[in-house]
Amino acid sequence: MDYSKMKPESLMMSYGYKPSLSEGAIKCPIFQTSTFVFKNAQEGKNFFEVAYGLREKGQNEELGLIYSRLNNPDLEILENRLCLWDKAEDCAVFESGMSAISTAMMEIMKPGDLLLYSRPVYGGTDHFINHFLKKLNITAIGFLATDSKEAIIEKIEASGLADRLTMIHIETPANPTNALIDIEMCADIKKKYTTSEKEVILSVDNTYMGPIWQHPLKHGADLVLYSATKYIGGHSDVIAGACLGSKELMGRIKGLRTFLGNMAGPWTGWLLMRSLETLKVRMEQQAINAKHVAEYLQNHPKVEKVYYLGFIEQNANAREIEIFKKQYTSAGAMIAFDIKGGEKEAFSFLDSLQLIKLAVSLGGTESLAEHPQTMTHADVPTEDKNAMHISEKLVRISVGVEHYTDLIADIEQALK
Ligand SMILES: *Cc1c(COP(=O)(O)O)cnc(C)c1O
Repeated sequence: MDYSKMKPESLMMSYGYKPSLSEGAIKCPIFQTSTFVFKNAQEGKNFFEVAYGLREKGQNEELGLIYSRLNNPDLEILENRLCLWDKAEDCAVFESGMSAISTAMMEIMKPGDLLLYSRPVYGGTDHFINHFLKKLNITAIGFLATDSKEAIIEKIEASGLADRLTMIHIETPANPTNALIDIEMCADIKKKYTTSEKEVILSVDNTYMGPIWQHPLKHGADLVLYSATKYIGGHSDVIAGACLGSKELMGRIKGLRTFLGNMAGPWTGWLLMRSLETLKVRMEQQAINAKHVAEYLQNHPKVEKVYYLGFIEQNANAREIEIFKKQYTSAGAMIAFDIKGGEKEAFSFLDSLQLIKLAVSLGGTESLAEHPQTMTHADVPTEDKNAMHISEKLVRISVGVEHYTDLIADIEQALK
């Protein structure tokens, strides 16, 4: 059978693993080892020559393992499996989403460069951009989901650093209100500022919708970034991250990972491989549950407005509807809503939930609820909070795999 024609979900249990190399074990063992024994000194020399880029890999050369900071079977097999969902050439897995994002940014940009990014981005990313990268003399300018291409280009020109634009980083849908950004529009801006000397790299943090419901590489992105802590891990029991893209770009990013030493360990790799087997069934069920929960909220008298992509036809403008149809195959499983009242009512609702837990993070098997304004987005400037409807009455829910009637019953009693 032709494995390359199969759907990713059919390959998550076996792809890239040879049982005969591990005593016939059906599952890839945890290779809890720091280093690997070479057959002879010449083999060690060969592996290092390729690993350190001293020469290209020979056509039929089989490369072996060296040291677990460079490669480890749990890491490599996991990376090969992650590539299947996004149809990426290569992947690097990290010990957290933040290490994937920060390593990619540090590899792509250098002091004096300009970064364009969508606002608001994940709080950790925002802090890294506006504190650490600033210290490296990297200037960042933000744009909102509502800004037009022309308005964004105007901002780039006004910065006086248009010729130093090297990276565009976006998050779509934006957290927590599901505002959409057009990846193809960002790819056009990338092309406009790419010259023969420097390519502008477009990266998309796909944590909210990936790797099942959005595939940014298809729309012109160069890098896809994940907090694998969320849907990919999916059980709220591991912190991890991933970055995917072309062989060339990933070669650079993996190079920096080797020297920062922030690769995922074998235990994290093994946990994520286990999670990937159920990724699609989990996410599909979460999306079905989210639809039921959103519809319930929509009709509740104590709810003012529901931010859910399944309602986009009713709520959004033509441009957003077009982006949704182009980029997404599902409305996802993240919902936010304005409760009637303010912080007091929102907190009272959160404190009354029983089955749904009051916690940040998202994408796990259990449903979670939180208050973005005072929790995940506490650090976001007031101006952005206002523009993105992150007000005191906003509550965010990550819908899990419980039975939706139990989730709705919990929400009903908490609203009461
Ligand atoms: C959680 C999250 C991150 C950070 O990932 P960690 O695994 O916590 O380091 C980055 N981006 C988004 C959109 C996230 O939700």
